[in-house]
Amino acid sequence: MGARACETDAREHEGAQDDTRRTSRRVSELVDQGLVDRGEIEALERVAERFSVAITKDLVDLATPGDPNDPITKQFVPSKRELRILPEERVDPIGDDPHTPVKGITHRYPDRLLLKPVHVCPAYCRFCFRREKVGPGSEVLSREELAAALGYIRAHEEVWEVILSGGDPMILPPRKLAEITAALAAIEHVRVLRLHTRVPVMEPGRVDEVMARALRAPDLTTYVVLHTNHVRELGPKAREAIGRLVDAGIPMLSQTVLLRGVNDDAETLKELFRELVVLRVKPYYLHHGDLAVGTGHFRTSITEGQSIVRELRQGLSGIAQPTYVLDIPGGYGKVPIGPGYLGPEGEDGRRTVEDPWGRRHGYPPGGGEGAG
Ligand SMILES: *Cc1c(COP(=O)(O)O)cnc(C)c1O
Ligand code: SF4
Repeated sequence: MGARACETDAREHEGAQDDTRRTSRRVSELVDQGLVDRGEIEALERVAERFSVAITKDLVDLATPGDPNDPITKQFVPSKRELRILPEERVDPIGDDPHTPVKGITHRYPDRLLLKPVHVCPAYCRFCFRREKVGPGSEVLSREELAAALGYIRAHEEVWEVILSGGDPMILPPRKLAEITAALAAIEHVRVLRLHTRVPVMEPGRVDEVMARALRAPDLTTYVVLHTNHVRELGPKAREAIGRLVDAGIPMLSQTVLLRGVNDDAETLKELFRELVVLRVKPYYLHHGDLAVGTGHFRTSITEGQSIVRELRQGLSGIAQPTYVLDIPGGYGKVPIGPGYLGPEGEDGRRTVEDPWGRRHGYPPGGGEGAG
């Protein structure tokens, strides 16, 4: 009976809001909305067979139909380029599978782990790094499985932080989220709850005061990390949703995926990161595109990424700078891959340091024994 409890909950919640927020899940609906050419239906049906398709009414409202460079369309409307699969691309691009001790948990670093209660999202990003795992019909944690996952966390005292991820955890009804929050708050060694979500952009109406309250509990500090890739995603409703979370006492961070044709230039990113800071969201990570299947058209090279990040360093406030990171394929973890400014130590112990404009300066040895 408890099996599929989360799924039922998610459906209930969706159902309650269905008429005001229609979500398009079929290629034919995208044609009706002017987001896809009729001639492409057949190819896109094939894309949709392999990878989940959904775009919320809120996102459609932000899109400019007919504009081939529209950042919303590019991120959410399927393209036949997704059928081009490169040999280096992987079904499990960041290597979650080897770090799954119990269903719903990915435990790669000692002090923090991912808890994935649900594998659906309100809409599907075409470059999703978990695209082989998310979507309707994907498994969700049953009540028993969730209890087992919580048992694992309880038994591992080194776990200081639990990251709710998925899918998108904010698709769950607040009642369910409040249950999870309370269960985690009751575990003494868990001090921080972090949610990774794109709901404030995809379906901002879900983020009401009840939701914000559901994420908080005494003895537990909650952070929300918003996935957002372009300033156009931050329409009036998204801004209000973010405001409600921060006003409820929840600090916010952001993560952005570097995407060719969407945000792969410094000016676009500056605009996004500045707006986030204005909205009280601290830019946290800029992700290099993962090697997810059928996403080659979205990836830049690391060299291109570094050159963009260099430009950010020259003309963007420090509090608006995220860390450029790569999730190493195979499950080896995330590392910063931004440009290096510090040269190697010379024989005399001196180094050179590059400033933001590329000029080199000497820096004396010191601090160590040799410095006397
Ligand atoms: C990304 C990730 C985290 C969080 O990493 P931070 O660097 O702390 O943001 C934790 N666990 C797994 C498995 C991850 O993929
Ligand atoms: S919100 Fe995250 S998990 Fe969901 S489709 Fe987008 S990238 Fe994938």
